[in-house]
Amino acid sequence: MASDTPPRSGFFSRLRDGLRKTRDNLVEKIETVFSGTVLDEAKLDELEEALLAADLGPTATAEIMESARSAFRRQGATTVEAMRTLLAERVAELLVLPSSEPVAARPHVTLFVGTNGSGKTTTIAKLAQRYRDAGESVLLAAGDTFRAAAIEQLQIWGQRVGAEVVAHKAGADPSAVAFDACRAAQARQIGRLLVDTAGRLHTKTNLMEELKKIRRVIDRAMPGAPHETLLVLDATTGLNALAQAREFHQAIGVTGIVVTKLDGTAKGGAVVGIVRGLGIPLRYIGVGESADALQPFNPQEFATALFS
Ligand code: GDP
Repeated sequence: MASDTPPRSGFFSRLRDGLRKTRDNLVEKIETVFSGTVLDEAKLDELEEALLAADLGPTATAEIMESARSAFRRQGATTVEAMRTLLAERVAELLVLPSSEPVAARPHVTLFVGTNGSGKTTTIAKLAQRYRDAGESVLLAAGDTFRAAAIEQLQIWGQRVGAEVVAHKAGADPSAVAFDACRAAQARQIGRLLVDTAGRLHTKTNLMEELKKIRRVIDRAMPGAPHETLLVLDATTGLNALAQAREFHQAIGVTGIVVTKLDGTAKGGAVVGIVRGLGIPLRYIGVGESADALQPFNPQEFATALFS
């Protein structure tokens, strides 16, 4: 899909800049571990601790350490540089997950879920902009009826990016908003329907039940939809996002992940932990607040930006 092709120019430096804090955190730790000494088993244990401290999580850390230890056994003493290259290669490999082919259906429906403040609305706006730039018609559904401000925010974004918005009053049934939006998207022959949802945390069980209902209603309005369910996670919460993600996945079946705010955190290593821990492909990453700061995720580029 043309709209999912990463724009090359400036993207990599943007990614590198965005990942600066994470890179400093991770690479600094690795260099401290290896500085001035010959690599031995004890150093490998320290490397393991460094990876865990950088929020890579137990699963990914174990996978990476298996490669590091076997390289060490094969080659004996190795340099910091060699270890850095090995880590970058291994991380890139680990981030590649078999992902299903994008569904070509039109209207194509994407449901966005995630806790409040994770960056759902901003992500929807940025993606709407991408689709508009690629010449697609876009409809937004203001499914976060819990907060009046969320509805207004989506309407403002809609105006800005040239997308119509289906909205009901604050407090209305979000499933009804989703249903109307599906009908409107079909009637107006819209290319992309992006459905926002509430993400408040204090009524967790109800939230999951509500999301399940929204899913069912969308499927009823348009059999086979939503074609993608994207979970938006805030990178600054680090590996804590993993437990949260599991809960959403169990309830509604997430097909892709978006990790936002990678620019503001040293915990970007959690991306690796989240992808390996969940086994769900990462679709987009946010490395800033502007529209072009949301980028399709590319494992190779991410790993290179992380270690180089
Ligand atoms: P929602 O409650 O999930 O809809 O979250 P919002 O979309 O309202 O985003 C919450 C805040 O995070 C806003 O101030 C956004 O500008 C900010 N934000 C979203 N994505 C990014 C990102 O990639 N980087 C940075 N620095 N801020 C972001």
